[in-house]
Amino acid sequence: MRRKGAFILLAFFMILSSFNINSKTGFAANQEGGRNVSEPVEADIFVKRIDAISEEFIKGVDVSSILALEDSGVKFYNESGKKQDIFQTLSEAGVNYVRVRVWNDPYDAEGNGYGGGNNDLQKAIEIGKRATANGMKLLVDFHYSDFWADPAKQQAPKAWANSSFEDKKQALYTYTRESLQAMLNEGIDIGMVQVGNETTGGFVGETDWAKMSELFSAGSKAIREVDPTILVALHFTNPEKAGRYETIAETLHKNQVDYDVFASSYYPFWHGTLENLTSVLKNVADTYGKKVMVAETSYTYTEEDGDGHGNTAPKETGQTLNYPITVQGQATAVRDVIEAVVNVGEAGIGVFYWEPAWIPVGPSNKMKQNMKKWEKDGSGWATSFAAEYDPEDAGHWYGGSAVDNQALFDFNGNPLPSLNVFKYVDTGADAPLKIDDVKDLSISRIAGEDITLPKNVTVIYNNGAEGTAAVTWDHDALQQAISSGVGSYVIEGVVEGSMVVKANLQINPKNDVANPSFEASDRSMWEITYKNGTYPHTSYQQKASDAKSGNYSLHFYSADAVDFQVEQTITGLEPGSYKLSMFLQGGDAGNSDMYLYASTGGKKYRVDTSVNGWVNWSHPEIGEILVLDGTVTIGASIKASAGAWGSLDDFALYRVRDVE
Ligand code: CA
Repeated sequence: MRRKGAFILLAFFMILSSFNINSKTGFAANQEGGRNVSEPVEADIFVKRIDAISEEFIKGVDVSSILALEDSGVKFYNESGKKQDIFQTLSEAGVNYVRVRVWNDPYDAEGNGYGGGNNDLQKAIEIGKRATANGMKLLVDFHYSDFWADPAKQQAPKAWANSSFEDKKQALYTYTRESLQAMLNEGIDIGMVQVGNETTGGFVGETDWAKMSELFSAGSKAIREVDPTILVALHFTNPEKAGRYETIAETLHKNQVDYDVFASSYYPFWHGTLENLTSVLKNVADTYGKKVMVAETSYTYTEEDGDGHGNTAPKETGQTLNYPITVQGQATAVRDVIEAVVNVGEAGIGVFYWEPAWIPVGPSNKMKQNMKKWEKDGSGWATSFAAEYDPEDAGHWYGGSAVDNQALFDFNGNPLPSLNVFKYVDTGADAPLKIDDVKDLSISRIAGEDITLPKNVTVIYNNGAEGTAAVTWDHDALQQAISSGVGSYVIEGVVEGSMVVKANLQINPKNDVANPSFEASDRSMWEITYKNGTYPHTSYQQKASDAKSGNYSLHFYSADAVDFQVEQTITGLEPGSYKLSMFLQGGDAGNSDMYLYASTGGKKYRVDTSVNGWVNWSHPEIGEILVLDGTVTIGASIKASAGAWGSLDDFALYRVRDVE
């Protein structure tokens, strides 16, 4: 209301704003669930309030690399651009918990650090003191290793490597007790301790769950003895793997491991859906009476790499990036992870963001200079000195920060608006509406036909809404692509004067199939035959939502068995090697036997296909069809048991090249 007010006539605006003030006062007096219900705060990002979040909810960050970064000269600023202790900035943004990793001895015999912050007990004490001084609790994350422990690596510390299992267990107990006591002696406010980090596939060099459980218990016992009010957490990964957390929690229960919090890593681009996360955590919470949380999460705000050392996301393949790669997208991603944990209910206690401050020690074009700092201060993920302990990984790939584009600070140490998501989830936040992201598009066209690009493209606003906006394409690049003919091109366009959008333009050769998309009313070139005594059960259906392109597709359904073929004979083709494809969607296809085929010169080609749900299009292709006599018969054979349905569309036969 206030934002729109600026555009309204002054008199009207005054009425509106006075109403606004009154209504605000009225709202502030209301209480809902023990919290003030007020309007969202005005901000530079949108954050939808999470109504059910409790005041105690843990909003944590892991800033373990911070001291090494500061040693490398990295500076951090507050929102006003003034240099400020990052711990104060974090606290001001609503962060109430700091997580710190502890490695037993991340140094070689000469005292060179392995990197990744060189996080030994002394570093944890210093970080803990600064967190406590700024009113934040500490989560101590013991890896019980001399370097990174994760699902792939759970190497015992050098000093324990040759110990018997019993001695190792005793050493873990003693180390936990003494380290924790040393931290408490410094006045550090420790709220939680992790016995191990991402111990999904092993722990302290052991992979047998009976032994792993004994080691968990040894750590837990030490924590309980030092301070029974400290929460004991265990930490696992891959919630997306069906049954994994169920099995782990059951094993821990059977082995009588005493712990309070079942913690999960959740990186949105790797670890499945939020609904699944909530569901698997809730299952553990409900079945075993445990608290649950996300111990690590992060999201990308830019595709850029800040320091010359490649980042973990985004990657070309194998990742799901469902949010815009923008500051707003990052804030929304974090907000949604928080909501997913809140949705567990009372047992969902918190979320930790992983390394929001691991920013570059220098620009990406100064690799040599950066490498010197990483080696000297341990401010990159690993130094060359780590090779003796971790030869396969650090030994090859040592270097800088792999998450500088997932930080909540920009490359120069200024807080991003997304850092405030931690406080905005309580109140909600509204920002002036603007386009946040433009969706790139993929377009296929036929060479020789009129090729134009759409006048409008899909945009995503900062409040998450989708819309369309006019785009100005690079006309010269498009003309050049058209004159070059068959091939793949990227044409850039500009939206609202500054946002760049890409059209991935595929110019295909001429399609030799007549009426390939069933759009023209004369379909006499297509021949449909029903087999094994079935009645006709196809139709040229006019329904755009079932068509791959246009309005029509060849639809099939039968309450009895489906068994038909559709084909077309094409003549007058230039000799050459051809490629055939079609699109197919549908479902309920038991005993499915479906294939695309071509026959020419006495030779038959075929490729099997299947249906996988509504508009989940299969795209079977046959390459290298040798046409010598100018004639080819192409088609599809579709067979499935009663009740199968679906549609076929967009057959294409392209001449790929001359006969060799
Ligand atoms: Ca990087």
